[in-house]
Order: sequence, then structure tokens, then C-alpha cells
Amino acid sequence: MTKCPVCAENFKKKDMDGLTKHFIMMNDRNDAFHVGWLREYVPLDNYNTPNFAKSLASFFSVIDGDLKGWIERVFVEKFLGDKPHPFVEAMQKPKKALFLGFASEYYFFLKQKIKSCSFIIAKTDKEEVQKFEAKIIFSELSGTNGESAGSESSLLVRMAESLGVPRDSIVNGVPLPPTIHSIKLWNQVSESDHWLEVMGSINTLDMLPSKVMRERGAKFDIYNKSVLDNEWIPDHVKKFLTYIVDPKNDHSQEALTLISKYAKELDMIEDVQSAFLRSIDAFDRHLQARLTRSKQFEGK
Ligand SMILES: [Zn+2]
Repeated sequence: MTKCPVCAENFKKKDMDGLTKHFIMMNDRNDAFHVGWLREYVPLDNYNTPNFAKSLASFFSVIDGDLKGWIERVFVEKFLGDKPHPFVEAMQKPKKALFLGFASEYYFFLKQKIKSCSFIIAKTDKEEVQKFEAKIIFSELSGTNGESAGSESSLLVRMAESLGVPRDSIVNGVPLPPTIHSIKLWNQVSESDHWLEVMGSINTLDMLPSKVMRERGAKFDIYNKSVLDNEWIPDHVKKFLTYIVDPKNDHSQEALTLISKYAKELDMIEDVQSAFLRSIDAFDRHLQARLTRSKQFEGK
């Protein structure tokens, strides 16, 4: 591990002892972020026993260099497992307010995604990585059919419009503080860290709507397919929902293959794990913000 997955403090490569001691110290100090992280990822009754070092090492252990498999397992468990993320749970039986909360917060995530992918292009000489990121940027800006009307953010805005919220309130709105903080983290990683850490941070989040996750143990899809049969849901909402799960727009597997390949080649598995873990906690808070935001639309 080279960076703490909570506070990004630096450790020497493979210095698991240093990271273990750091976690024990932060746990003894009752630091809410480190304590919360430990409870979620390495749950133990007592962290002051030799068992903790073993459990922490086992959480980070990547079997046969399969970083892709490790990332998928951790992501599925956190967002799509038996106890899915509350946002995913709400999406199984969505209400109008939920789509509006989704649109109001996610719009700003999409803007940051374009910037983060651009940082990766600027920071690497690997053409296959540049091509991959360019493909994502163009699809976010112009849609997969090359029409600006079909980009994900324009579909998102039209979804909100079809539910009675004008374009201006989405585009010129201000996201809630958790989304603002999460975007700051993604932007800071993009500006300061290695391009592979940026990939581990931003390109992994596309797993949420990916249909492939079912084959990786996911118990839920981002929404229940039967949602599309609901007559009260306007066509523009259905268009957006169909777009996000369309395998044609799913770049997550390609991203994970590239990340895993270069993490091995550049000896950066631990760096990517840390960037990914910090990112999914930011993503968790952003998804919570979509729910909080939806409450503001209830009854409207
Ligand atoms: Zn830390």
C-alpha cells in the first residue's frame, strides 16, 4: 500500500506494517473516517490484536495479479450486493422525485468525468489509454450516435424537463455539499496523481449500471427492468434509463482490463487500490446526495 485508502497518507511501497500501525493509531484516536472505513471493509471486534494485520493484508490481497476481479468484488459488495446502496434500493421502485434528485446531482458528476478523462489523456503516452478515454469523452459530449442530442447529460436534462423541471435549474443549479466534496476529490486526484490512479478513481464507477456485474455476483441492477413498464413514467425518463444500461455504452470492462494490465506493468496495484477505495467512498456520498436531493422534490 502506498497511500492510506482513507486519508491518502503516504507509505513506502508494500509497507503493510506502516499502514497497519497507522490504522491502529487512528482507531485508538477514534478518528471517525478511519473507524468507519475499518468497520465497513475489515470488520473486527478488536483492532489491537495480531489478527488485524492479517485481516487487513487479506482484504488487500490480489490473487494472481487479478486486480480487475478484486475491484469488481469490492464494488459489487458495496453497491450491488445483498444489502445494496440505498440509492440502488430506491431505484428498484422509483418515484418522480428520485429521478429529479438523480438528474440534479449526477449532471455535475458527468461534467467532472469529462475533465478527469481529459487529465488522463494529458498525463499518459499510452495510445490505447488515450483512445479509450477519448472514446468516453466523445460519447459523453456527443452521444454514441455522434449527435449532441444523444449525449448522456442531454438525455439527463431531457428526463428532468419531461418531469416538469426546466433545463436551467439542472444546468445552472448547485449540487449538494456531499457531491461538491466528492467532485473536489476526483478533480484533485486528476490534477495531482498518476494517470493510472485517475483511471482507478473515475473509470471504475461505470460499473454501477453495468449489466456485466450480475455475472460478478451483483444481486441487483441499477433499476428493476419492470420500471420501464410503468405508464406514469415519461418516455424521456425511459430513454435515459435505457441508455445507461445499454451494453454499447458500458465502458467498465474495457477500463478494468486496462487498469489491471498497467497496474501490473507499472507495479502500481496498491496505488490503484487506494485511489479506487477513496473514490468509491466519494461515490457513496454522491449517491446519498441524489437521495437527499430527491426529498426536496417530493410533493412537487
Ligand atoms: Zn489514513
